[in-house]
Amino acid sequence: MHKLARLDHAHVWHPFTQMRDWLRREPIVITSGQGAVLRDVRGREYLDANSSIWTNLHGHNHPKLNTALKRQLGKIAHSSVLGFANEPASLLAERLVRMANFEFRVSNRSKDHPPPNSQFAIHNSQLSKVFFSDDGSTAMEVALKLAYEFTRRTRGPKTKPRFLSLAGAYHGDTVGAVSLGHIDLFHKAYGGLLFKTDQVMSPYCYRCPFNKAKPERADAREHRKCSWECVGKVEAKCAAARKRDNDYAAFVFEPRIQGAAGMIPQPGGWLKRVADIARGHRALLVADEVMTGFGRTGSFFASHAEGVQPDFLALAKGLTGGSLPLAATLTTQAAFNAFLGDYEEFTTFFHGHSYTGNQLGAAAALASLELLEGKASVKARARLEDDLRRELKSLWLLPQVGDVRQAGLVAGVELVRDWRTREPFALGERAGIRVCEAMARRGVLTRPIGNVVVLMPPYCTTAAQVRRMVGALYEAVEEVFPPA
Ligand code: PMP
Repeated sequence: MHKLARLDHAHVWHPFTQMRDWLRREPIVITSGQGAVLRDVRGREYLDANSSIWTNLHGHNHPKLNTALKRQLGKIAHSSVLGFANEPASLLAERLVRMANFEFRVSNRSKDHPPPNSQFAIHNSQLSKVFFSDDGSTAMEVALKLAYEFTRRTRGPKTKPRFLSLAGAYHGDTVGAVSLGHIDLFHKAYGGLLFKTDQVMSPYCYRCPFNKAKPERADAREHRKCSWECVGKVEAKCAAARKRDNDYAAFVFEPRIQGAAGMIPQPGGWLKRVADIARGHRALLVADEVMTGFGRTGSFFASHAEGVQPDFLALAKGLTGGSLPLAATLTTQAAFNAFLGDYEEFTTFFHGHSYTGNQLGAAAALASLELLEGKASVKARARLEDDLRRELKSLWLLPQVGDVRQAGLVAGVELVRDWRTREPFALGERAGIRVCEAMARRGVLTRPIGNVVVLMPPYCTTAAQVRRMVGALYEAVEEVFPPA
């Protein structure tokens, strides 16, 4: 075993990992990367098929990001915005605000969000303020606390703000974010630590309890005679809360596709419908775009593609192009104003982390956004989406492939015991894990979510590399479940 692997085994506790299994085999020790390729300590090469846990956008070792990082390093690595302003954080905040509103304005002419008179005339309901933190979980904690306190301040201190989030929701691992989550496997054990939130059915068309159509293959798989029963569930939850005289403080969602729930896309139009219902019941909208942001689902922000402008927009993962941990929670002038006051009124938002507004991270983010907005990236993303769609089709031939789902540049392949019955594998069978291990032996790295294998390549991935990723998945399924 390599010396570094031995040290890892001796001391590193890996997240979301059964360490007994981990200690049984030599880990892959990554030492470098280039584009969509990762290299390990033994010189073997792999394709990074999940963009290093959904973070990397433009590929590893990108010269533009490297240059920006080196330039910033020549000045200073870190000073905190807890106490001082700094150049890249200010520039980044302005850029994020511009993108979060411009993107929305170009695709939507909503009465609630009229275009500003001048470039910086910020309407009260526009996203105009940026609170920096470190990762997706902290971005969600910030949104949660702000929405909670904003609600108390606007509805009165006796209000007990409650939150509504989606079945299968995952918003991070800190205690507040876990409270918003509804994945028993991850969250149940900590029940005693959590505050209560309500959950509502989210669309999962492949397993829709209202779709009585017989399971069939690709061409006939569209959910039929959909009467938006899942929208009705949101309506019912909001109505029940109103009956209790306690409208939800906020409705929390991942737009377009729920990631850790199993890469489950929402049918077009669902989000707009439920967002309108929630707003009609006074709920603030909290969009968790930690995974979906920055072009992952095609548009810059997934909420906007659905015609929804949230009150809180949580961003992390791809914010720095996948180079450094940095997160941002965007919110409205109205929310910001609720925390203004004389010092001795103590209306301050008492929250913040040491590395908030980290200069290196902000510099990387600026370089990444510059790339993302460039024509070359827009073109590459459109091509990659098509490449993925084309290659994924081959998987329908495998009897253990129940569903192949894609939203932009994100794909989830749900493995089932038999596609006709849609019977899931028991989690203990480790179907997803075994398939991903077989893919790794073929030089393609990704992690499953239960029985769902995720493909989420960096935007620079070539057509040939996409073919290799999908080909490895195909062969891996055949290896793990040999044809009779
Ligand atoms: N929200 C979503 C939608 C996520 O996918 C994740 C992480 N997978 C998080 C929040 C938490 O982000 P982090 O791991 O950076 O804390």
